[in-house]
Amino acid sequence: MKKLALHWQIIIGMVLGVLFGLLFLNFEWGKAFVLNWIKPFGTIFINSLKLIAVPLILASLIKGISDLKDLSKLSSMGGITIATYIFTTMMAVTIGLVAVNIIEPGNYIAEETREQLVNAYSSNANEKIDVANSQKNLGPLQPLVDMVPSNFFNAASNNRNMLQVIFFAIIFGISMILIPPKKSLPIKNFFDSLNDVILKIIDLIMLCAPYGVFALLAAIIVESPSMDLFKALGLYSITVLFGLILLICIYLIIVRIFIGKSPSYFLNGISPAQLLAFSTSSSAATLPVTMERVKDHLDVDEEVSSFVLPIGATINMDGSALYQAVAAVFIAQAFGLDLSLAAQLGIVTTATLASIGSAAVPGAGMVMLIIVLSQAGIPEIGLALIFAVDRPLDMCRTVVNVTGDATVSMFVNKIVTKKRT
Ligand code: ASP
Repeated sequence: MKKLALHWQIIIGMVLGVLFGLLFLNFEWGKAFVLNWIKPFGTIFINSLKLIAVPLILASLIKGISDLKDLSKLSSMGGITIATYIFTTMMAVTIGLVAVNIIEPGNYIAEETREQLVNAYSSNANEKIDVANSQKNLGPLQPLVDMVPSNFFNAASNNRNMLQVIFFAIIFGISMILIPPKKSLPIKNFFDSLNDVILKIIDLIMLCAPYGVFALLAAIIVESPSMDLFKALGLYSITVLFGLILLICIYLIIVRIFIGKSPSYFLNGISPAQLLAFSTSSSAATLPVTMERVKDHLDVDEEVSSFVLPIGATINMDGSALYQAVAAVFIAQAFGLDLSLAAQLGIVTTATLASIGSAAVPGAGMVMLIIVLSQAGIPEIGLALIFAVDRPLDMCRTVVNVTGDATVSMFVNKIVTKKRT
């Protein structure tokens, strides 16, 4: 019998997980059963993906850079990558702002509902505000300082420090190019084979993906708040989703026009990574699969994918940026504040920076949203308004984050290969 393609297996796992969660909600003991006996398998699955993230970045970036042979290629690839990432992020914020100004979801929230939501979630919102404040008080150059680790092992011991690991890997790879090839050969062979071993581990983990996403979605269903809250925030969620779908369409157009590949080719290649992004809400956890799909199914050179994607997973979050723009204006509308054009242009800058600063883990976009709110003079407690729907929107914006990284990697690949010929 022909084996079902991986993305179908994952979709079936997701659908069954949702049905299972809904079914078990009908029993008094159902929620506890899912949380005690099903959710742990989802957690194990995410942990195994996260486990592989730091070794993967190290091995693939060092291998990728040391394969380059000369540094001019690295600097031109780096320049194109960063410029494209910033461009797509600003485009995402702009789309979000236009959508939220046209639809105006905040004007439909009744005073009473607003008070209810703020009361229900204010303690959670306060926690996030504390986290964001501790980041905000650190001065403008802090992100730069944070990029350089003072101890490699400390950096590698926390997935939130991926940018530090990337920094180390880039310096390491560059230094390998700068010493005589005979001397760098043993270490190069080591990282080449480490890379192969890690790719094999990813294959093995992906065999469990359908079961992992089943467990994750069943747990999300039993843990989600009541339907009424979702309804109150329906139009806001629709605005974010509309923007995200528009962004995906733009990626498809870029793939068609600039890269010359069909949208179905792109979607077939990247869909397992998208489904995983949806189930895990984490671009960092999805990174191993994104890298494998882009390299093996979208024909991007390993040299490019191993450089562009780890950086993208940490700094390029188009979906999160769009969400931050919509959420900020939505909260302002709900509180009856009128945002001037200048304030909205300010949001383009802060949401771009905030999305770059967001860690690639669940909920990070919401923490950084506080910085956007405070810069624009919008009450931070407004976060409590959107808490109830954050998780489902996080799942969707993570899909866009991953799709954006894949699109840019194909774009950079096209330019780099064109230059070579
Ligand atoms: N969960 C998102 C990601 O990992 C970040 C966010 O919360 O917006 O890509």
